[in-house]
Amino acid sequence: MNSIVQLKDIVFDNPQFSLTTSFDREDFTKILREKFEVPQEVIDRFFSTVAGMNFYDDQSKTTRELFEEFFPGRSDIHRLLMEPITYANGSTLDDPAITYGIVFSNFMNRGVFTFEGGTDKLIGMMVTELEKNGVTICTKSKVERIIIENGHVTGVEVNGRVISAPTVISNSGITNTIFNLAGPESFSDEFMARAEAIRVNNSSCQVYIGIKEDATIEYKGDLLFTSTAPEFSSDELLDPHTRSKTFSVYYPKTRPGHDRYTIVASMNSRYDDWNGLARGEYEQKKEELIERTLVDLERYFPGARDKIDWLEAATPVTFNRYTLHTRGTSFGTKFEGLDVSRSLFKEVPGLFHVGSVGIIMSGWLGAINYGVIVANDVDAYVRSQENH
Ligand SMILES: Cc1cc2nc3c(=O)[nH]c(=O)nc-3n(C[C@H](O)[C@H](O)[C@H](O)COP(=O)(O)OP(=O)(O)OC[C@H]3O[C@@H](n4cnc5c(N)ncnc54)[C@H](O)[C@@H]3O)c2cc1C
Repeated sequence: MNSIVQLKDIVFDNPQFSLTTSFDREDFTKILREKFEVPQEVIDRFFSTVAGMNFYDDQSKTTRELFEEFFPGRSDIHRLLMEPITYANGSTLDDPAITYGIVFSNFMNRGVFTFEGGTDKLIGMMVTELEKNGVTICTKSKVERIIIENGHVTGVEVNGRVISAPTVISNSGITNTIFNLAGPESFSDEFMARAEAIRVNNSSCQVYIGIKEDATIEYKGDLLFTSTAPEFSSDELLDPHTRSKTFSVYYPKTRPGHDRYTIVASMNSRYDDWNGLARGEYEQKKEELIERTLVDLERYFPGARDKIDWLEAATPVTFNRYTLHTRGTSFGTKFEGLDVSRSLFKEVPGLFHVGSVGIIMSGWLGAINYGVIVANDVDAYVRSQENH
């Protein structure tokens, strides 16, 4: 818990407004009232409406309708409220408002947080805790098949070796788990009809920028939402030539002991824009992506180009290659994936799925929350088997 630290300076910079915020309810209320001149009563009603949203609400209302209800015709406010959430979970104005409300409220509760020391430190701590509890971790072990016999799960096949188990929890994406690992023949027609309707979320591009050991960069905020597009548009954000991107700036304070600076640029992207390109064309498009990123970066950090000693780009194809997620999805599935994931073990006893589904269970927080829910299901299942 001591490593979970707040990022206090979130910067927005686009043709409609430029501001810095701690991205919590108190500061957003102030900005909406003073900068965007929204009456306090409307702001309060908006915040209590989104905070009160839950999974069992009407899911037909879209985020666009929600925004029009409270801030009609205010594309600037829609941008302030939506752009960061589109980066955080891939949702659009046309997704159910609940997928917006739950994630936005989480941010508004406290703000934006990061793990001081980075993912490597976090993973190291997880390994220690798991092994202390008797877990055997096998890396470099790609599961080729989930074995199902007589309608029950009996184990997995890894590198040609069968590992028997009465319960299998797959973290391999709900679409992967059903279509590639368990196989459609293991499920009922009714279930498969629902599974086939699952849409995966968009993917991402990232540019990793390493700053030379002896170089420093000026403090400009922790997370920069930048755009030169006139208005917010989900399609614009997904376009390969998008004029919108975020910069996550890691100063020595976020990685104590390293005393180095790094910057990561993130963009939302479509798998189809990157998949199937010939090697040379793919490499060239990555170079162009890096170049566009550097042009944007220098608007905030003039001269940064000369301080860089490492540049690398990742595309939807990269995310697909390393995580195996269908079409390189960054945030799992759209809303319909959650119900399919929840009912997996009812179709094949002993088989569970955990991971990003349905937008609201996406991102680190969502995936972890969903892990707790599934762990409860697994525990109940294992105990019920012991009692037999
Ligand atoms: C570029 C990018 C930026 C993001 N930024 C943020 C952010 O700032 N904040 C945030 O909260 N979320 C962010 N996310 C989203 C977050 O990373 C995901 O929501 C979360 O990691 C999903 O967890 P998961 O367990 O579903 O899948 P993953 O974390 O992808 O884990 C699935 C694991 O299963 C492994 N696997 C798959 N198939 C097999 C197989 N057959 N055999 C063995 N292993 C297998 C994969 O290798 C992978 O390690 C970002 C995602 C991306 C791509």
